[in-house]
Amino acid sequence: MSLYPAFARPRDLGQAAEIMGSLSTGAMIIAGGQELMPSVNYGALMPEVYIDVGQIAALKGISEEAGAIQIGSFTVHRDVQNNDLIQSKLPLLSYAAAQIGGGMQVHNRGTIGGNIVAMHPLYDILPSLLALGAEVDVLSDVGEVRVALADLMKDARHGLGSESLLVRVHLKPMMPGAGWSYEKLKITAGGYGSANAAAIVTLDSSKITSLRVVVGAVSALPVDMSDTLSDCCGQAWSAHLAEEVEARSSAEIKEPLSDHQGDGEWRRAMAGVMARGAIEAAIKKAG
Ligand SMILES: Cc1cc2nc3c(=O)[nH]c(=O)nc-3n(C[C@H](O)[C@H](O)[C@H](O)COP(=O)(O)OP(=O)(O)OC[C@H]3O[C@@H](n4cnc5c(N)ncnc54)[C@H](O)[C@@H]3O)c2cc1C
Repeated sequence: MSLYPAFARPRDLGQAAEIMGSLSTGAMIIAGGQELMPSVNYGALMPEVYIDVGQIAALKGISEEAGAIQIGSFTVHRDVQNNDLIQSKLPLLSYAAAQIGGGMQVHNRGTIGGNIVAMHPLYDILPSLLALGAEVDVLSDVGEVRVALADLMKDARHGLGSESLLVRVHLKPMMPGAGWSYEKLKITAGGYGSANAAAIVTLDSSKITSLRVVVGAVSALPVDMSDTLSDCCGQAWSAHLAEEVEARSSAEIKEPLSDHQGDGEWRRAMAGVMARGAIEAAIKKAG
């Protein structure tokens, strides 16, 4: 191993696939470096080769095609927050991106792709993307595949970060009239969440017709409560239903996180509180 890391800078997706296929272990993709470089600085990671994907035009930009919104993986958090298309058709995602801490540097340099691939339990973007039913395109030396983000998370990262590249995110626009909410419980302003929840609700008069709710920062990966809570559909929100939602959401957290921000029992309790709060807030905005 050389004393200094090497640096590869593919110009397009073809070159990126070729490079990823030819490099041995020890190579790492770098986007904004807001996740990777702190790990390198702390000595937790020592890439032998950095693959800088910042020159690849296909990874940049936000567009609408055939009724779906596509976000290039190299799109920075600030652009996700401020983009007109996202603000009007995916306001939940714009709002969640604005809740990321770390200040201007992280917002201007950190990318949606890096945030997804890091799959960090305390980060803000995954719960909203899961609630929105996101799909992603993943490129490796054998080609490009589209997978549901929920499936990608079950599958040991698909070699992302070294052998494969997250190219873009696909999202269907939120239904007109849908209520949404992203709630983040944090100890310090601008800090990581100790629990969070994203919810999307549609109503017919006062009855719930569809419900998506994903709770994050309480276990290693966000937990999608939508199936568990699907019997809320057809019911009007009430104090009784709210209590049930809270209890059932807490019970879904089998292996809670425990850290300086809160122990496992507290995390489990907060999962219920956040799910309930996010649904309540989304209902207020619906219609
Ligand atoms: C001080 C600070 C505070 C922060 N606070 C928050 C917060 O409150 N909420 C929050 O959500 N996040 C927070 N973050 C994290 C930040 O949002 C993420 O680190 C950032 O989004 C990562 O994006 P990046 O482009 O910098 O990724 P990088 O650091 O470049 O890469 C991160 C990982 O993803 C891989 N990778 C990157 N892009 C791709 C790709 N296209 N395909 C495959 N693999 C890829 C890399 O190999 C690496 O493993 C904070 C970060 C800092 C430094």
